[in-house]
Amino acid sequence: FTIAKPANDPFKGYLPGSPERTELKAELKRQSEQVVRIPLIIGGKEVWTDHTIKVTMPHDHQHVIAECCMAGETELKQAIGAALEAKEAWEEMPWEHRSAIFLKAADRITGPYRQVLNASTMLGQSKTVFQAEIDIAELADFLRFGVWSAQEIFKDQPLSTDGIWNRQDYRPLDGFICAITPFNFTSIGGNLPTAPAIVGNVALWKPSRTAVLANYYYMKLLMDCGLPAGVINFVPCDGADMSKYVIPHPKMAGFHFTGSTAVFQGVWKQVGENIASYANYPRLVGETGGKDYIFAHPTADVEPLVAALVRGSFEFQGQKCSACSRAFVPASLWPQVERGLKEKVAALKVGDVQEFDTFMAAVIDRASFQTCKGYLDRAAASPECEIVAGGTCDDSKGWFVQPTVIRCSSPYYESMVKEIFGPILSVYVYPDDQLDETLKVCDTASPYALTGAIFAQDRQAIVKMERALRNSCGNFYINDKCTGAVVGQQPFGGARASGTNDKAGTGLNIIRWLSAHAVKEAF
Ligand code: GLU
Repeated sequence: FTIAKPANDPFKGYLPGSPERTELKAELKRQSEQVVRIPLIIGGKEVWTDHTIKVTMPHDHQHVIAECCMAGETELKQAIGAALEAKEAWEEMPWEHRSAIFLKAADRITGPYRQVLNASTMLGQSKTVFQAEIDIAELADFLRFGVWSAQEIFKDQPLSTDGIWNRQDYRPLDGFICAITPFNFTSIGGNLPTAPAIVGNVALWKPSRTAVLANYYYMKLLMDCGLPAGVINFVPCDGADMSKYVIPHPKMAGFHFTGSTAVFQGVWKQVGENIASYANYPRLVGETGGKDYIFAHPTADVEPLVAALVRGSFEFQGQKCSACSRAFVPASLWPQVERGLKEKVAALKVGDVQEFDTFMAAVIDRASFQTCKGYLDRAAASPECEIVAGGTCDDSKGWFVQPTVIRCSSPYYESMVKEIFGPILSVYVYPDDQLDETLKVCDTASPYALTGAIFAQDRQAIVKMERALRNSCGNFYINDKCTGAVVGQQPFGGARASGTNDKAGTGLNIIRWLSAHAVKEAF
């Protein structure tokens, strides 16, 4: 039997009067009136610890929605034991039965469980309804495409000759996987421990403390769909404990990560230092920082360019790894672009996610707010900067930073080159006759290479720009914004300091969790 190539889950519209809107509103009300107690889940059992943290809503930071247990040394060691104990039976479960668990979970996500995940993502991570909806649809896509991609890998077999049958089987890695996941996508949170599990691996999952509510609901769903005890162990904890008790373990066979460049590089170092103590060379797969750009050519169409700058930079408060945070605009187009940005940014509604016409809500936490505030304060004082739009922030109720556009006189000004992870777009206006030099700056000014976009109508210009920027990103867009990669359509991942570019949701990622075993039999 084979599984047919999946289609992407279609988004719902949440228009006034629609059933999904009524359902989601009710779920938002229910979830905002309770405080969920979140246990660890180790070996299929709930484990309660004394060390807990409060989970609040970023747009209303005094409002607690969950209290989450944290794992320490004892629980992390238990979780490693539980994972290794579950390994054999999980590995031996027939492929179609393992797949059934994940396909069933995908159906629940797109069906009755959708609003539970949408509401917890909206409240916990301060996502608008549209941003939550695309996130949850992606979670289902990751499951379906993950199962399908694995099947395609298994089909690939070596050549046989007369009297010789060569075959290859694909074993899960010899140990456990450690998944550390980010706050910004519930889908990525779910995918990082699940992608290895689809092909028979067992995992420890450290969710982000600011996305833990939605991640916990997903974990419960997997168990309700029949995920055996110990296959994925849900262990929110401090990063320091993870690096002390889990990463150096001799059976740590793979590390699946989305988060900061500094943390990922720290793990590489730690693994390197311990390399002789591992049973296998651990597979290190990570998607990390970005300094993503939109580069406009003098022949660009201004209207779609401005729309892409606004959506690419400010949707989900600029907290996608793919978010546009720097732009290069030719001087000849700048007056129109500036006018468009001013108008559009002034019209954006910033506020509470429970109002469905909100475009942008709060940044994730105090630390993020402080980072953004630092950039805004320094830009306001710098002779190199002119604040074109926004520029203010207010933390009295939530971590609100206004969508901000800063024009920088140098393409090397700090906000043009450093990752901010907030709703701040920096623009460098280049002289039209310095296209080549400016392309070079765009390519080399930051260490990252995640996403990038160009806007141009002239075909020769498109060819030239694509070539010049070939190594500056893993996902390149022509006349579109640099965010919003869709599973199965634009395989997502970046290079350089942005990650190992093992495209999420594709066979390129799944294959990292397999260790091929080649068998020759002579007849
Ligand atoms: N896939 C997302 C996009 O293209 C970004 C994922 C991320 O932030 O890591 O917008």
